[in-house]
Amino acid sequence: MSGPQAALPLVAALAGALWAAPGFAQSALDTTPAKQLFGAAKAPVDMKARSIGFYSKGCLAGGEMLPVNGPAWQAMRLSRNRNWGHPALVEFVERLAVKVPKVSNWPGILVGDMSQPRGGPMLTGHASHQIGLDADIWLTPMPNREFTRQEREDISATMIVRKDRLDVDPKVWTPSHVAVIKAAATDPQVERVLVNAAIKKALCRDAGNDRAWLQKVRPYWGHDYHMHVRIACQAGSPECRAQDAVVPGEGCGKDLDWWFSDAVLHPKPPPKPPVPPKPKPPMMLSDMPDACRQVLLGR
Ligand SMILES: [Zn+2]
Repeated sequence: MSGPQAALPLVAALAGALWAAPGFAQSALDTTPAKQLFGAAKAPVDMKARSIGFYSKGCLAGGEMLPVNGPAWQAMRLSRNRNWGHPALVEFVERLAVKVPKVSNWPGILVGDMSQPRGGPMLTGHASHQIGLDADIWLTPMPNREFTRQEREDISATMIVRKDRLDVDPKVWTPSHVAVIKAAATDPQVERVLVNAAIKKALCRDAGNDRAWLQKVRPYWGHDYHMHVRIACQAGSPECRAQDAVVPGEGCGKDLDWWFSDAVLHPKPPPKPPVPPKPKPPMMLSDMPDACRQVLLGR
């Protein structure tokens, strides 16, 4: 076995030793990719909650766990240990969950990745989700029963986008999907909801007369099984860097044309360069805000 997976137990042990004996093996912190360091942190750091850095380069102090079950939610893929966030994110997910049965015929929501206990980059997937302010919500209704741990690993989310990727699959898409995405987008804490362009197109068509919330729903690659919800930097997080405001307008009609162009839907592979480019070096702790070192070390 080689690669990052093989190094994991070592890093976990090392990280455990680090937190137990501050000052030990400092150099490992500077030679190990940040995703391995943060991926090995199994518990939050006992500090006041604050988001540090940017959504795609930062970490989280005082992370809070979303309970794996609630009155209207179930957290999925528990083995990943990514059901953590800033307390405001946990509050938002809980608030959205209990709203969903009131506005749709879904009994509740299935919650995918939020953040790791101390945030930071992850070993797999996601450039963002690093500062405890992002949550993936499946576009699949929560069932009326509790999933087992194993089911939460194995069950797939529902593919919403039609095979030709020009629209949603009419056999899958329902008014409840519109209502659930609208419930997320109208929450005052939410700054952006990312969905596939075909889903955005369907929302534009089905939104009816109340349309202001469409501005926050932005098209993005992937996101054909889940929506990505991002809340704002919170008070008490001076090092949290806000993202640019969403551009004005609903973002419907012509604004979506580019996403359905041939170049985007059927991209040609780029010509092979004569010399293969060097792989991008992984993000290191030294690339991250200074305070993330304290988050990792717990002091
Ligand atoms: Zn996401």
